[in-house]
Amino acid sequence: MKTLGKYSIGMGDRFGRQGSAQLKAVIEAGTKGIDITPVWNKSNREHMIIGTRPDDVRKEADEVTKKAGFTKPYFVDADHINLDTVDRFIDCSDFFTIDVASYIGNKADEEKIEEFVIRSMVYSGKIRFNDIAEPIEVSLKKIKNIAEKYLFAALKAREIYEIIEKKKGKGNFVTEVSMDEVPHPQTPVELLFILKMLGDLKIPAQTIAPKFSGRFNKGVDYSGDPDKFAAEFESDLMVIDYAIKEFGLPDNLKMSIHSGSDKFAIYPYIGSIIRKHDKGIHLKTAGTTWLEEVTGLALSDGAALEFVKEIYFSSLEKTDELCAPYADVIDIDKSGLPSVKEVSGWSSKKFADSIRHVEGNSDYNPNIRQLIHVAYKLAAENSDKFFILLAENSKTVAECVFENLYNRHICRLFDIR
Ligand SMILES: [Zn+2]
Repeated sequence: MKTLGKYSIGMGDRFGRQGSAQLKAVIEAGTKGIDITPVWNKSNREHMIIGTRPDDVRKEADEVTKKAGFTKPYFVDADHINLDTVDRFIDCSDFFTIDVASYIGNKADEEKIEEFVIRSMVYSGKIRFNDIAEPIEVSLKKIKNIAEKYLFAALKAREIYEIIEKKKGKGNFVTEVSMDEVPHPQTPVELLFILKMLGDLKIPAQTIAPKFSGRFNKGVDYSGDPDKFAAEFESDLMVIDYAIKEFGLPDNLKMSIHSGSDKFAIYPYIGSIIRKHDKGIHLKTAGTTWLEEVTGLALSDGAALEFVKEIYFSSLEKTDELCAPYADVIDIDKSGLPSVKEVSGWSSKKFADSIRHVEGNSDYNPNIRQLIHVAYKLAAENSDKFFILLAENSKTVAECVFENLYNRHICRLFDIR
């Protein structure tokens, strides 16, 4: 049976060149006593924009682990797949993020809803969770509302799960169910009954990715109230605990946070809460490794700096087009984007500091960072030159990738000093 370890990290590597540097960060954490399972994730959207295939991610993961002599488990995640996209990911993936977001809100058959409500009647009233002082109130009407909103999505998850299971065989892959790409967060009570649906439908989810309060914009920090997030996150963990015992879900079911990367403001909360309750976590980061490639090229100066400046200039012309697929997960203030004229005169350091997410550095500009984050298509369009520059400056780039993943993410989340 393929099982995910207690701690795992989802890493995106859009152009497939930085797997070794990413793995190095995981190995380094291991030497500090934090055992993390690496998972390479890439969504269909990224494959389409870049022109890569799911196979490429498998090839990279196999190659870099072999090269490093890494003998522990690692996974290739078919990220955010649904009925339309699952097929071409099946052979090469062993982790599937079944995305039900687009099915939420559609109503299942009345009969199925009624059946679910009847099965759930025993949970109406007050439910008491470990470590949460206040019991949660659940009315039958509430259960019905939740069934009307989520049961259809859970049934779709089962449909997608079956397609995968039929081809790969039971137990040969890790299943995640995600519903983070929706406008409204799920409450802990909603999560509880969603997990009951997954248990009833025998979907052996090892990770679940809800939508939390606050904004999780790509590549920049959390925007919202960290204390509110912490309370919600802790309740969700207790709900998962309860659901494992009550609904027959896998023992190692854990929370998956689709962070969109760089949620530094809430890392200390997540870290201390999982340690307090001795829980695992899957932290999915976005493709910000690409931003480290840009940073590394900027630091390399010369033709490499010119190349990334050109990408920025083109992205200024194509801002709307580049941002469209990411409208819900970026927040760019266009007035904060410096002009071509201004940036033309920037030094290597100034350009790198503007992109690199280091709080307190007065040159850090989250608007440029987010725009470049979605501008990877422009590098894909000029990939010959981009790959040559990456190869020529591979050491500097790899250092940026490692430092970002290890120091800014792993050390902060797992409290490695
Ligand atoms: Zn997600």
